Amino acid sequence: MDLLSYAIPALGDVATRALREVLDGEIVARGEAGYHAARTVWNGTVDRQPEVVAYCADVSDVVMALRFARAHDLVVAVRSGGHSVPGFSVCDGGIVIDLSRIRGVEVDPTGRIARVAGGSVLGDLDAAAQAHGLVCPVGAVAHTGVAGLTLGGGLGHLMRRYGLTIDSLRAVELVTADGRCVRVSADQNADLFWGLRGAGANFGIATSFEFDLHPLEPVVVAGSLIYDIERASELAGLVRTMPDTAPDELVVSMSWRIGPARPPFGPGLAGRPVAVCSVVYAGPIREAERVLRPLRALGPVVDSVGPTPYIDLQRRSDNVMAWGRRYYWKGAFVTELSDELLEVAIHRSVDVPSPNAAVGLMTLGGAIDRVPDRETAFAARAGRFWVTAEAVWDDPDDDDAYLAWGRGAMTAIAPFAMDRNYANDMGRTGVETLRAAYGDERYARLLALKRHWDPDNVFRMNHNVRPDAT
Ligand SMILES: Cc1cc2nc3c(=O)[nH]c(=O)nc-3n(C[C@H](O)[C@H](O)[C@H](O)COP(=O)(O)OP(=O)(O)OC[C@H]3O[C@@H](n4cnc5c(N)ncnc54)[C@H](O)[C@@H]3O)c2cc1C
Repeated sequence: MDLLSYAIPALGDVATRALREVLDGEIVARGEAGYHAARTVWNGTVDRQPEVVAYCADVSDVVMALRFARAHDLVVAVRSGGHSVPGFSVCDGGIVIDLSRIRGVEVDPTGRIARVAGGSVLGDLDAAAQAHGLVCPVGAVAHTGVAGLTLGGGLGHLMRRYGLTIDSLRAVELVTADGRCVRVSADQNADLFWGLRGAGANFGIATSFEFDLHPLEPVVVAGSLIYDIERASELAGLVRTMPDTAPDELVVSMSWRIGPARPPFGPGLAGRPVAVCSVVYAGPIREAERVLRPLRALGPVVDSVGPTPYIDLQRRSDNVMAWGRRYYWKGAFVTELSDELLEVAIHRSVDVPSPNAAVGLMTLGGAIDRVPDRETAFAARAGRFWVTAEAVWDDPDDDDAYLAWGRGAMTAIAPFAMDRNYANDMGRTGVETLRAAYGDERYARLLALKRHWDPDNVFRMNHNVRPDAT
C-alpha cells in the first residue's frame, strides 16, 4: 500500500489502519488501550496527547512512519529514552515516532567500537562495554536514552578523562526529513556530523550510533562526603581550582541542601543544611586516598566514598530519578566558582519547598578542553562548572511551589552564567536565547545545515533551529 495516497486532511481510522498495515511495530492511537502509557514520558509534569504513537520495530518502520507523518502533515515528535525534561519527545496532536524497541549494543572489543541501536538506553551501552573492560563516557542515570543525550553532547562521570559523549562518536545512521537513510561521520556528510554533535535532534532520526570505546577497570572510587554547611566556603576553596588542577580521572560534584532522610544522609542530618561533595575517581584505586586527602581533611560528618563497581555507580540514581515523577531541571555553565555564586547557591538550596530541591555543580575541564571548541556544535566547552537546579516531587498540587523555586534559582544563577549553554539542559527557548546558547557563528552554521537538511522543519520538537529565522 502506498501511504502517500492516503493524503486525507485529518488523521482518522482509515489512515491509522493504513499505518498499522505497513509497520512491523505497534501503533497505539488516541482512545485505544495502552494510549496513556504510550503518551507518557519521563517527566510527569508533561501531559500531551498525540494522535498516534508508532513503536517502530526497525529502520524501515522509522522511514514509513516519517513518510506517513509528512503525507498527513502531522507534527512529529521523535522519542528514544523519553527523558527530555521539557517533554520534546511527545506532541499534542501528531505522531510520536518511538525508537525504544530498536534497542541493542554490539561491541567489537578488538577495534574498541560499540554499535548502538537508536532506542538504547545508557545502561545498555555501559553493560555491553564493561563486559569487555571498556566504556563510552555517557551520562549518570542508566535509563536515559543514548540518542537524546548524544545528540546534545553528553556530560558525565568520565568526561574529564574521556571527554563528552560526542567526542567518542564515530558515526550516525540517520533518517533524513525526506526519508533517506544516510551515514554521517567525519568522512561522510562531515558538515552534518559537526551539527549532530550538539544540535542533533534538529536534522533527522538517528537509528544507530557508532562509538569509540576506552579502557576502564570495573571498579572506581565513588561516594559522598557530607559536611556541616559552615564548611561550604572552605570546600568551595578546594573545588574552585579543580577544573584546571585535578587529575582527569576525578570529577567532583558539589551541592548544598537540606539533608533528606535517605542514605547516605541518615537521621542525624535530616532537615539540617549541609554541603555535599560527591566524587568519582576513575583512576588507579591505590591513588584515590592521596587524591581525596584534601577533601577528607576538611572533616566530613559522613564519608561514603569507597570502591564501587562502575555499573552500580551508573545506576545509583535510577530510583530517585524514576519515570513518571514530577521534575524541574535546568542548567547553566559558569567560568568560575565565585564567593557571590556560592552565596546565591547556598541561599537557594536552603530556602526550598522540601529536601528534594537543590542547586549543584560539577567540575568540567580535562579532556573536554582538549577538543577544539569549533570542532563540534556543542558550545559550552569553555565552562569550568556545570551548574544545575533540580527538584523532584510527586503531587501535582505541589507543581507551583517547585516550579517557582526552580525558576527563582535559575534567575538568581543567570548573572553568573555564560551565554553558551547545553541543548539538553535548557527549557523551552526563543530564537534569541537559542542563538546566544550557540553563539552567532555556530548558530549561522546550524541554520545553513537546517535549511539544507530539513527546510520544512519536520524536526521541530527540540531546541529548534528554525529554518525561517533570520
Ligand atoms: C534522569 C536524567 C538524567 C540525566 N543525566 C544526564 C547526564 O548525566 N548528562 C547529560 O549530559 N545529560 C543528562 N540528562 C539530560 C539528557 O541528556 C537529555 O534529557 C536527553 O535529551 C535525553 O535523551 P532521551 O533519548 O532519553 O530523550 P528523548 O526525550 O527521547 O529525546 C530528547 C530529544 O532528542 C530527540 N531525539 C530522541 N531520539 C532521537 C533520535 N533517535 N534521533 C533524533 N532525535 C532524537 C527528541 O526528539 C528530543 O528532542 C539527563 C536527563 C534525565 C531525565
